[in-house]
Amino acid sequence: MTQMIIDLRSDTITQPTLEMRQAIAQAPVGDDVLGDDPTVQALETYVAQLLGKEAAVYMPSGTMTNQVALRVHTEPGDEVILEAEAHIYYYEGGGPAALSGVMCRLVTGQQGIFSAQDVISVLRPADPHFPRTRLVCLENTHNRGGGRIFPLSNIQAIAEICRDRHLKLHLDGARFWNACVATGLSPADYAAPFDTISVCFSKGLGAPVGSALVGSAADMQRARRFRKLFGGGMRQAGLLAAGALYALQHHYDRLADDHAHAQILAQSLAEIPGIQVNPADVQTNIVVFQTPGRDAVAVADQLDQQGVRVLPVGPHALRAVTNLMVSRAQIQQVPERVQAVLGSGIALA
Ligand SMILES: *Cc1c(COP(=O)(O)O)cnc(C)c1O
Repeated sequence: MTQMIIDLRSDTITQPTLEMRQAIAQAPVGDDVLGDDPTVQALETYVAQLLGKEAAVYMPSGTMTNQVALRVHTEPGDEVILEAEAHIYYYEGGGPAALSGVMCRLVTGQQGIFSAQDVISVLRPADPHFPRTRLVCLENTHNRGGGRIFPLSNIQAIAEICRDRHLKLHLDGARFWNACVATGLSPADYAAPFDTISVCFSKGLGAPVGSALVGSAADMQRARRFRKLFGGGMRQAGLLAAGALYALQHHYDRLADDHAHAQILAQSLAEIPGIQVNPADVQTNIVVFQTPGRDAVAVADQLDQQGVRVLPVGPHALRAVTNLMVSRAQIQQVPERVQAVLGSGIALA
């Protein structure tokens, strides 16, 4: 019997729904590089208002919105403060060095979360010997931190340091919507401490393509120039923006379902001998679980044969991300399939 595949590799695997495809088909478009695309403009206006900022710029990816933000806030030779496991540092191809010529100064957080004191400890005095510290970047929720939420109180304390020291503050908010839904904070309240925020439409929200950078009108004007310079100016991009707008207006609230599914999954996996996971660590839609003594790549291969897809994220660590393609009934089938693999002993390292 062929089993339905349950794909938990990432929340990027989501496919546009029929209704989203209809919105895309009907979207009015124009040449967005010439400023003519009404659907891109509608999306940018909507997102800027939602986050309580002046303007937004739609771009093809979250990597581009982050890297454009770095370029907007810095000059070559400047220093950027980042958490050691930050996506911007870890997964963006060396972009900070290649595209902005900046130094990265790392602080070590706890599952990606750090404090104002951590920032203070790496600040440079104004002295010609040192690079100029210009920018602090946070990530909320934190990808490699297993979907960890950055508490607003920490953010506010860090923002105060940034104000005192004339530093800019950027948020990598690829999963910002998850943080808002999980905490109940409004996007505007959660975005308030930041100069710029990158938000994603193609993860949990389920749009096919795109992210937006959000901030002041002056910063977004600069961002538009660097988007073009980095090759991210798109013409009839309204077709893509229509999916993003639809996703934001229709799939935002249901992120709570993904969080509930992740909690159910974590609790059921915690019962399985050979698996270690603390459900209390699962705050949003990412479940990282350990398979002590078993090679994570081998376990992932075995699970794949059982129709469950997850990603190895360490020698004995795997990641499952709940998303709009996975129903509660499917989540409830996962433990049985995991047990079939772990019980077999095949995946022993
Ligand atoms: C996915 C992700 C990005 C980049 O998104 P792409 O659109 O894939 O380039 C940036 N930051 C974080 C935290 C992410 O999880």
